[in-house]
Amino acid sequence: MDDLFWNAAYLIIVLVWFGIRGYYRHKALQHDAKENVRPGFESVLVLLNMTGMIVLPLVAVITPFLDAFIIPVPEPVRFIALLIFALNIWLFVAAHRALGKNWSMILEIKEGHNLVKNGIYRRVRHPMYAHFWIWVIAQGFILANGFVLVFGIIAWGLLYLLRVPKEEEMMIAEFGDEYREYMRVTGRVIPKFVKN
Ligand code: SAH
Repeated sequence: MDDLFWNAAYLIIVLVWFGIRGYYRHKALQHDAKENVRPGFESVLVLLNMTGMIVLPLVAVITPFLDAFIIPVPEPVRFIALLIFALNIWLFVAAHRALGKNWSMILEIKEGHNLVKNGIYRRVRHPMYAHFWIWVIAQGFILANGFVLVFGIIAWGLLYLLRVPKEEEMMIAEFGDEYREYMRVTGRVIPKFVKN
């Protein structure tokens, strides 16, 4: 399969992703936040992560600058990565639909915020972050580029490691024991099955 195929398929899925995010972002802006706990230095990591998830893959697709990092990925592996990357859109939509008006791009508690524990949130606390893990791993294989793969994983990994404890702390401050109990019966990004 030609590189054009992998690049085009990758770009189409990313465009679909932007359409979905744009739609939910538009909806989210209609709900005011009552509390915003984004730590200042998080924005640096958000920028780093956007570089890893959007800018570098685009550089790899459009320019020859990252060609030195091309890795030999067998076609069936690339194909499976592409399939996973496409199916991953479902996870993104499912998380957005379940969170509804409670979603926000940054860490904040909305007016009338509910703790969502159903749908995709039943066994995992961070399905949207699971979606980003799948994204950064799959894109490196689809584009067959070692730099895109490693940079994406490190940039997202740093943001994830910083953000999740902050987010859970914020949720505990807001929902107390209800969130602690929710943590007991769910996994962070890998579903947990506990007997009640
Ligand atoms: N960490 C979640 C949500 C990411 S969006 C995930 O990966 O799926 C970030 C916002 O979602 C945070 O500002 C927080 O207020 C909200 N949030 C996170 N978990 C939530 C839950 N279980 N119910 C309601 N809102 C939640």
